[in-house]
Amino acid sequence: MRKISANYIYTGTSLPLKNGIITLDDSGKIINIKDTGGNLREIAKLSFYNGIIVPGFVNAHCHLELSHLKGLIPKHTGLAKFIIELSRHRGDSPNKVQQAAQLAEEEMLKNGIVAVGDISNTPDSFEIKAKQNIYYHTFLEIFGLDPRKADEIIVKARKLATVLKQKTKLPFSIVPHAPYSVSPTLFMKIRELENNKPLSIHNQESASEQSLFNGEKGSLFEVLSTLVPEYEKLCPSYNNSSLKYTLDHLESLQKILLVHNTYSSESDLSYSEQTNLDKYWILCPNANQYIEDKLPDINLFRRKKLKIALGTDSLASNNQLSILEEMKIISENYPKIPLEELISWATINGARALNISDKFGKIEPGKTPGINLLYDLNLHELKLTRESKVKRLA
Ligand SMILES: [Zn+2]
Repeated sequence: MRKISANYIYTGTSLPLKNGIITLDDSGKIINIKDTGGNLREIAKLSFYNGIIVPGFVNAHCHLELSHLKGLIPKHTGLAKFIIELSRHRGDSPNKVQQAAQLAEEEMLKNGIVAVGDISNTPDSFEIKAKQNIYYHTFLEIFGLDPRKADEIIVKARKLATVLKQKTKLPFSIVPHAPYSVSPTLFMKIRELENNKPLSIHNQESASEQSLFNGEKGSLFEVLSTLVPEYEKLCPSYNNSSLKYTLDHLESLQKILLVHNTYSSESDLSYSEQTNLDKYWILCPNANQYIEDKLPDINLFRRKKLKIALGTDSLASNNQLSILEEMKIISENYPKIPLEELISWATINGARALNISDKFGKIEPGKTPGINLLYDLNLHELKLTRESKVKRLA
């Protein structure tokens, strides 16, 4: 049993508690939370930390199996070139992939990440996930533009799901990669899968995705033409935004994690509001800067009160796997966003997106959400600084 306190505690369910006290058992389970009203008297065996205590972080979008590509893909080349570079590394040796993924997991643990929504195209990360050092929801990602191959793709994904089930017993869902890589037929097959939730899709990550859906072709069109046999024949005739294409292919009430949203416009978001889908907008700002050198218009999402969560994407497009670093880049570029709001994106919103808010994302008695300390902040103004760090306390 131990008692911890800090300048503030963000529980996720109440206003920040000044000098609150959390009592934990030896397993990290929360026994009690005390609001001291800011008056912390000397309490025996209390550990006091300078900083803010927050729940463990949820990384809503990662690709553990791409960790071996750290530093290999040049920055700011745009999505089309990034896809070409990535395709050159598919099929790298599973050994190399696993070693890098192991290190990546250790990095996430060190950075206070307790749960991950992780994309898998292969079984290479399953052994690591099986150890359950971190909670994983695996998104088994599929793509294919040839409608004749849709059934075959689903069968392959189901086989991969069987391997995952045998190795990990952890939850998964079979999900579309991106609007430009999934045919209407394959979307329909995904829709027909039972108990397959939540879904996740890469959304509006580049301007070239928009050009493709406007019928203007562009660099993504060029890349897909070289990578996909018979692309021009298979490419559906798009005539609107890629987001509309995605949303129109989903079942009503379906929960969907829309990842990136770098080029989502006001009219895209307005359209999305007319649907009754349960949408989470996952931002991966460091990856966006890495690939496209651009950030989403985050205030647009905030004005519409959309549900935002954070992801790191993979080490192929990020220098580190740290939710705090994602919060820092947002804070630097959008200094008016309150810290409390950023913390909710990094914790409870990600937990809700992954259907795990009963376990993670909130500091509540009876729960073991992981406890992080944010320190080296500007405590006076409650702001992150470039030097801010995170340490796992439980
Ligand atoms: Zn991704």
